[in-house]
Amino acid sequence: MKILIVEDEPKTGDYLRQGLREAGYTVDLATHGLDGLHLGLEGDHDLAILDVMLPGMDGWTLLKTLRAKGRHMPVLFLTARDEVADRVKGLELGADDYLVKPFSFAELLARVRTILRRGRPGNEPTTLAAADLELDLLRRRVTRAGKRIDLTAKEFALLELLMRRSGEVLPRSLIASQVWDMNFDSDTNVIEVAMRRLRAKVDDGFEPRLLHTVRGMGYVLEVQEGA
Ligand code: CA
Repeated sequence: MKILIVEDEPKTGDYLRQGLREAGYTVDLATHGLDGLHLGLEGDHDLAILDVMLPGMDGWTLLKTLRAKGRHMPVLFLTARDEVADRVKGLELGADDYLVKPFSFAELLARVRTILRRGRPGNEPTTLAAADLELDLLRRRVTRAGKRIDLTAKEFALLELLMRRSGEVLPRSLIASQVWDMNFDSDTNVIEVAMRRLRAKVDDGFEPRLLHTVRGMGYVLEVQEGA
């Protein structure tokens, strides 16, 4: 699950990013309204956490612009105590919830989990499947042929990405940004290592093989005919 935070207070932003990462989420952080908009339009975030007062573009305008451009991820607003009227405005604009500053991280995390549980558009599946491989997004559980497979948080995120876009060859750069929050650096073999581990868990001892390397291009999860 990927979360966008737009917060111009460096301390709050860093604190949220770190806490949410430790809770297993992938996090993009922007400290400027326009950077937040750019990230929100580019990435496929499952949730956006928006501060109201931001340089460049305020949180309301940011939300309106995202919605106008077809981004419908749930939104949690962070508001100051004296912005009560603004909260109503936020909810009217289609925010899912708001949190008054200062708040505890535990409270924020509880809200985030609630929104992510209920925030899925009605017919979005909560399980992904390919052949006899199943991934349960809510229970964070993976099985193959009914057998439980234990994955690390990164392996789960990697498999989720490959399953969501099965049949599509995903370049390493895209995997790096979606799963590791980093820009692709050709010197690192972190993706290769993770893919090898994931393949050992998901494919070894099972038929058909689902995870494939496309030389020079990236990785794809699919059932290949005649393979
Ligand atoms: Ca602010």
